[in-house]
Order: sequence, then structure tokens, then C-alpha cells
Amino acid sequence: MECQRCHVSGRKPATVNSRKERFCDECFINFVSIKQRKQMMKDEFFRNLFKVVYPLDQKESIGKILLPLSPSDSGSLVMLDIVHDLLLEQLKQHNNHTGFTVDVLTIFTEENFPVVRERMESLVKEKMLELNKTSNIYKVHFININEFFNSTSEVSSLIIDDGNFEIFTKSRSVGGGNRLTLDEISGEYCLNNSSRTDLTSIMKVQLIKHFAYENGNNAIMWGHSMTKLSEVIISLVVKGKGSQIATFLDTESFDNLDDKPCNYKNLYPMKDLLSVEIESFLQIKNLAKYLINAEETNSKPSCSVTKNPSPSLDKQKLVKNMTINEITNKYFQDIQNDYSNIISTVLRTADKLTEPISNMIKPSKCQICQSKIYSNPSDWLDRITVTSPYPIETNEEEYLFKQWQDSKLGQSHTHYMQLLGEIKNDNDGSNKDDKLCYGCLILLNTSIKDKNLIWPKVNTMNGLVNSTNNDRELSQILEQFEINSDLEE
Ligand SMILES: [Zn+2]
Ligand SMILES: [Zn+2]
Repeated sequence: MECQRCHVSGRKPATVNSRKERFCDECFINFVSIKQRKQMMKDEFFRNLFKVVYPLDQKESIGKILLPLSPSDSGSLVMLDIVHDLLLEQLKQHNNHTGFTVDVLTIFTEENFPVVRERMESLVKEKMLELNKTSNIYKVHFININEFFNSTSEVSSLIIDDGNFEIFTKSRSVGGGNRLTLDEISGEYCLNNSSRTDLTSIMKVQLIKHFAYENGNNAIMWGHSMTKLSEVIISLVVKGKGSQIATFLDTESFDNLDDKPCNYKNLYPMKDLLSVEIESFLQIKNLAKYLINAEETNSKPSCSVTKNPSPSLDKQKLVKNMTINEITNKYFQDIQNDYSNIISTVLRTADKLTEPISNMIKPSKCQICQSKIYSNPSDWLDRITVTSPYPIETNEEEYLFKQWQDSKLGQSHTHYMQLLGEIKNDNDGSNKDDKLCYGCLILLNTSIKDKNLIWPKVNTMNGLVNSTNNDRELSQILEQFEINSDLEE
């Protein structure tokens, strides 16, 4: 089988088979790069951001891009690789000048820190360092996910009244010793994996956006493939967060954080690529070594001609143990080779959505995920739900009720009622505007212990940019990184 894109005179053997076309390595790399670059040049704003503007050496004409790099996400790594090649080209063509600089931001947890550091170190040494020798194009930042709690000065204790779905909150300031951590949130508050993943990803997104805000970036480049975007879209619908889709996909407006206007727009440069194509790109360019779980990555479905073995049955999770994200992920992974048009249809349809019309008197934001609220979910749920219990009438019912009260379930209910009473009592009405979006309200009501969650007040978030530099061990790599680049100048 030969590549269908090579020049007729010297067709190379095909290695990749995608969208009913056969590619050799080289033509496939081109195909993927062009798709990404097209998105990076999609409108005037982004064109001006990425291109080299003359006269040179004008600081304000150099775009400042934030590229969140997750060591377990192939998309972000492929994106970086293509950006890297673009930068190399610009340096060559424009006498050592580039149109933009890149802040690479990696969020780590205590657990994966050693391996994240090792992978990033090799990436820095093998790729980025070379570019920084000529001009300081890359900056590398690491943030501990617990900075989500450390960088805020106030937290709210949120609870749902299960009688009428109203939210009650109690705020307090936090300092030094009484900080929460991700482990505590997922161990003590979350009742299942779905809520764990949801809250973790809310933390990551908030950290990235706040970093971009503080750091003065002009764009955040998200590594979502078409497949990943469709997964997110369907997951949002399933979780009752469909009203957020339009804002999530918006690449035309400047972002908004706690009603502060931002200088950056969001961009999804990989949105024309399927995740199987990203995995094949990764294999061809031998990039998997920079990722955590490289073996796992190597066995992910791709569109390479030499198909990799599909994961054995015992490795596949039971559906009931999967999170909503994993279920939608599996669905799109399964269909993308033969029915990739479904994926593009999901994305094209979602792209046409606009923000819903709000019927709120005062504009509000969700206290957990920070999304805009268009109609109060508490009122609506209260209208459609009967929550008052049927009164006890017979001795048998009385006996069964006692038994339930003494059970684990009953005890936890008693605890919940006490907590609700306390927070309601302390609530002096000043927090009346604290609201949750429908999705987070359901999450709190069904997947969080005692329907009560302590969550940082994101509008008090501050000092993220500094916290990245304070990390002792990581700053050593960075120093080394900077010293090396200085020496060569
Ligand atoms: Zn070819
Ligand atoms: Zn929410």
C-alpha cells in the first residue's frame, strides 16, 4: 500500500490510514500540522498573535501564549510539538525572531510529582532548551493542584436543604494551618469517582485560567481533539450543564473571570483532529516517552496501519465502575474509526449554540464551577419534586423507621440535619446570592457526603504566578534551565 499524498514519482509506503486516505509518515505529519496551524490562524486576533510583526523588537507585538501541558494528555503534547516546529521555522525565516512566546504550565499532584518532574526535565533538555538558547521563547511553570486551596483567602461551606433544594453557605477566612487539600476533598467529601474527577477538573481549569489572567497571557491553547471536545460536550449535557457549552467553545470573546475582564481568549487548535490521529502522530514522532504511562499511551487506539493490540478484556473496566467522562470517552473511542462523522456532527452542532437567555434578576455564577447561571435550578427542582415524607401511621412503620434511624444511612442523615441546622443558623442572609448551577447542585445533592462541601471562594484567588516560583525542587530545574540558556548567549 502506498501513500496517496506523495508525489507520483516517489510514493512511499503508507503507514497511516485515516479518513479513507493513506499517508506515509511525512505526509501524515504535514496533514496534522496544517490542521492545527489553520486553527491558529482562524481569525485576525489569532493571526496577529502568532505571526512575526515588523518592525521587530517591539515588545507589545509579541504574543504571549499559555499552553497547559498535561503529562497524561497526548493532545497537549502534540500541540506543543507543532507549536515548537512553527517557532523553529519563524526563527529561521525571521532572523532569530518569533511572533510569540510560550508559557508551558503543568499542574501536578503530590503523587505524580516525581514522574512529572522527570518527564518535563527531559522535554526541557531535549526540545525547549535549544530554542531558549537563541531567545527566551519558553518559560516552564509548575503548579501544585493544592494551590487551588492555598491561593484563596476565603472558603464557603455549602449545603443543600433537601426539603426545597435551597443552598445555604457559611464563609470563613482561611490561613496557614487549616488549608484543605485535594486528597481531603476526594477522600472525605466525594462519594464516587465521577464527583472526584469533576471537582478535580474544575480545579485544574480554574488554576489555568487564573494563571493566564495573572500572568498577562493573550491566549490559552487547549489540547482538546475533536473527539475530546465531543466527549466534553456530551458529558456536559449528561451532567445537566448544557447551558455552559456555548461559553466553553467560545474562541471569539475575551474570557471573564469573576466578572473581571481578561486579556486572553481561549483557543482549541486541535479541534479538527481525531484522537486516533493524535495518537498516531505521537507514535511517529516518538513523543510518548514524555508522557506518564507511556506503555498505556502506546496501546491506545490509533489510525496507524500496524494496528496495536486492543486492551485485553480483564483490563477493561466494568461500566458501573466508570465515571460519566470515562463512559463518553469509551463511546467516542469506539466509534471514531468507522463513524467519525458522528464526532464532527456533535462538535458542529455544539458550535452553533449560543448562550441561553437569562431569567435571573441578578447575574449569578456557580459557587463551585464558576459558570454563569441562567435560571435558578433550586426553584425549578422544588417545583417538580415532592420531598415531604409520608407520615408514620402503623406500629410496623414506626419499627422500620427506628431501624433505619439506627442504620448507617440513618445516622448519616441525622448528622446531615445537624449540619444543615448549624449552617442555616449562621446564615444571616448576606449570602443569599450564593447559587449553584444545576449540574453542581445535583452533584452536591447526590455525590457529596452530607450534601455539604467546603470550597474555596475563587474570587479571592491571588498570587498564583508567585507560587509557581516558590517550589524549591522545581526551581532547581528552572534555574539550571535559565543558567544554561544564559551561558550560551
Ligand atoms: Zn506521502
Ligand atoms: Zn456549577
